Amino acid sequence: MSSESAVASNVKYRRVLLKLSGEALIGDQGYGLDPKIVSRLAIEVRDVHRMGVEIAIVIGGGNIFRGVSGASGGMDRATADYMGMLATVINALALQSALERLDVPVRVQSAISMQAVCEPYIRRRAIRHMEKGRVVVFAAGTGNPFFSTDTAAALRASETECNALLKATKVDGVYSADPARDAKALRYDRLNYLEVLSRDLKVMDAAAISLARENRIPILVFSIHNHGGFADVVTGRGRFTVITEEGAS
Ligand code: UDP
Repeated sequence: MSSESAVASNVKYRRVLLKLSGEALIGDQGYGLDPKIVSRLAIEVRDVHRMGVEIAIVIGGGNIFRGVSGASGGMDRATADYMGMLATVINALALQSALERLDVPVRVQSAISMQAVCEPYIRRRAIRHMEKGRVVVFAAGTGNPFFSTDTAAALRASETECNALLKATKVDGVYSADPARDAKALRYDRLNYLEVLSRDLKVMDAAAISLARENRIPILVFSIHNHGGFADVVTGRGRFTVITEEGAS
């Protein structure tokens, strides 16, 4: 969109990739998708879209199926992972529909071809969609078993030249331990990629962090439960942890 329309002056990142976990869609039901939550997330996206920011989204599938749980139940891991990837397509379609209800132009691109349902992933086409002001939702992760949607997020952010990878979580940044379980957990404002890896901070898996590092894409970790949280991060306001090469120094 930046190439074809104005970007609000307070915007810090022209093109961003938002990583939403499947769990963010669950709501109070404990499983699947809560339409109210999906609509609320779509409003967050619409508000940032209105600022002229180009938006790509990678959505997880953990609210429906996770490969590791299938594998622990005796299923072979690759098959279970493919099921997990299909779960992300369900979530992507739900988000597409919620965004369209808000008149946000959107396209879903899947790493596993599903012509009747959505577009296949085509890098240059995805970039063109964003330049034209369309939100692109990347479904089916990387298309490969044994990977995660976090890695898919770092991969797609690198491929489509995003200026930042925004990881939406339940909390307002990266902590030394789970703040819900450990009252002494320390919150970090800034970190570098190596600190995240060496301290084994549970932000994203190592493959995702390494890919973001290699391509110098800052990772911003913020809470999706704060209304307007996405817009705040894009404008550099609000609470989030930023992970870069420089980190705190
Ligand atoms: N998955 C995969 N390859 C990928 C991305 C995802 O095999 O590139 C599978 C994997 O089984 C994973 C599931 O899809 O458990 C759902 O994705 P993820 O767990 O990353 O979703 P989230 O935790 O973000 O909801």
